[in-house]
Amino acid sequence: MDFTLSPAVADYCRKVRAFVEQEILPVEADPANYDAHEYIALPVLDKLRAKVKAAGLWLPQLPVADGGLGFDVVGRAAAFEEMARSIFGPVAFHAAAPDDGNMTVISKVGTPAQKAWWLKPVTDGKVRSSFVMTEPMPGGGSDPTQMKTRAERRGDRYVVHGHKWFITGADEAAHFILIARTSDDERRGLSAFLFHKDQPGWHIIRRIPIMGPEEHGGHCELAFEGLEIPAENLLLKEGDGLKITQIRLGTARLTHCMRWLGMAKRALEICQPYIRERVAFGQTLAEHESVQGLLGRAAMGIEIGRLLTMRAAAKLDSGDFARKEVSMAKVQVADTLHLAIDTAMQLMGAKGYSKDTPLEWMYRYARQARLVDGASEVHMMVLARALMAEGQDFWSWD
Ligand SMILES: Cc1cc2nc3c(=O)[nH]c(=O)nc-3n(C[C@H](O)[C@H](O)[C@H](O)COP(=O)(O)OP(=O)(O)OC[C@H]3O[C@@H](n4cnc5c(N)ncnc54)[C@H](O)[C@@H]3O)c2cc1C
Repeated sequence: MDFTLSPAVADYCRKVRAFVEQEILPVEADPANYDAHEYIALPVLDKLRAKVKAAGLWLPQLPVADGGLGFDVVGRAAAFEEMARSIFGPVAFHAAAPDDGNMTVISKVGTPAQKAWWLKPVTDGKVRSSFVMTEPMPGGGSDPTQMKTRAERRGDRYVVHGHKWFITGADEAAHFILIARTSDDERRGLSAFLFHKDQPGWHIIRRIPIMGPEEHGGHCELAFEGLEIPAENLLLKEGDGLKITQIRLGTARLTHCMRWLGMAKRALEICQPYIRERVAFGQTLAEHESVQGLLGRAAMGIEIGRLLTMRAAAKLDSGDFARKEVSMAKVQVADTLHLAIDTAMQLMGAKGYSKDTPLEWMYRYARQARLVDGASEVHMMVLARALMAEGQDFWSWD
């Protein structure tokens, strides 16, 4: 239970802090740097990424052999939180979803050939990637056993038919990880495949309009009408789709928490000059006890989230799937993100509701946190099941 960061991680975080302050916050502050979907414009991002690479700060989360800086999950937690002080931070350092989760899983399970063909262009930042799992009714959403998209084996290839939606980044991605049904077996019925955007047999039906700002490539609805995937593009073996999903989502859910904590901290940072300066009813807002109560509660929520995230990170580093720990962090941090942004908006009055600060951007973005990578209710179900199965051992320190 030693929370001291390693010298390498601490040094990296210091450099990231300075880089965000000097290079990214000024970019974020200029409306000219945004694209039509309220995210950083791609030419602006390219320039920022070149500076990140030149500063030696690119891709801390992957092993050195795969082009990263070799941080463990604990180191990643500290680094991603620091990057996410800016809404453009994670994507600038190549730590944003969905590339981050996709790179992590291929790095863990990909063959050397799959890494060379699929991973390297993504780690270099030359192409983007998507993770294709969720389906509209009656297909798989929270419950993947409902999945309807089928990949049928024909000789040395699989032929895919089906329907997916809310696939982040699909409109800009070149490399895709697809989860599809290869049998009706309850545990081993799903498989994971790699495919390239230029392969025929699939198309984007539409880019689904959403409440919040959109990552590059949006959130898309896809149709598969005979996409052929060579068997060598299976990840692990046929029937390992659920395992791949667990490996990907375990870490990916936690990296969401790491970034959301950075954003929540920023929200409280944004409101502080205002409440220190604004006088109402004889004193500054910051001097009102009820204001202090709001600020203190949000700050405490962030610290609880950091502790849960670090605990889950340490467990993942020990080789554990950390299902309970990741679920707890995901639910708590998603709620805290909303609370911190909402508090900052409230304390800034009308200005908080304006587009003069990034708070309203964050507020709209934050609503997805309770839905993506498992709705909060599903994580609660996981926790309740674990409690009922483990009894007192649920709280074991081991
Ligand atoms: C912005 C955004 C980006 C996304 N990106 C991707 C992506 O890149 N790739 C991808 O494959 N998917 C993606 N998704 C889809 C996301 O993972 C799903 O929305 C999520 O898993 C929930 O599935 P669903 O929408 O089908 O909801 P449903 O399964 O229909 O559930 C609806 C609601 O029912 C409730 N519920 C469900 N199960 C239970 C339960 N056991 N107990 C109690 N209540 C329950 C919850 O409140 C839940 O929100 C994205 C979604 C969003 C909003």
